[in-house]
Amino acid sequence: MAILMVFCSNCGKELHEDANFCPKCGERTRKGVEAGISTPLEDLKVAFSKMSEELEKAFSIAGREMEKAVKTARDRIKEATTREPLTCPHCGKENSSDAKFCFQCGKKLS
Ligand SMILES: [Zn+2]
Ligand SMILES: [Zn+2]
Repeated sequence: MAILMVFCSNCGKELHEDANFCPKCGERTRKGVEAGISTPLEDLKVAFSKMSEELEKAFSIAGREMEKAVKTARDRIKEATTREPLTCPHCGKENSSDAKFCFQCGKKLS
């Protein structure tokens, strides 16, 4: 009966034939490779690249939100600085934008 000896390709440690990883150095064994088991390190890399993708997405969303906020603020400023003259709802007379009462009919302007 032949005993199948498996050794770590990295450090040479004798391995259990069912081992997917070397218990000494953490290197993936041939069995682990053949089984398609990813090393924790690879998992980390995947997780990290996924995280940076998420971050990038978050940043681009934040950038868009920022753009929107800037545009809204700009519109508000524009609104505030280019106030239309007030038209009296009672007589239709145009009053200056800071008028509280219609200079023609004397009614309160909203
Ligand atoms: Zn090893
Ligand atoms: Zn009026």
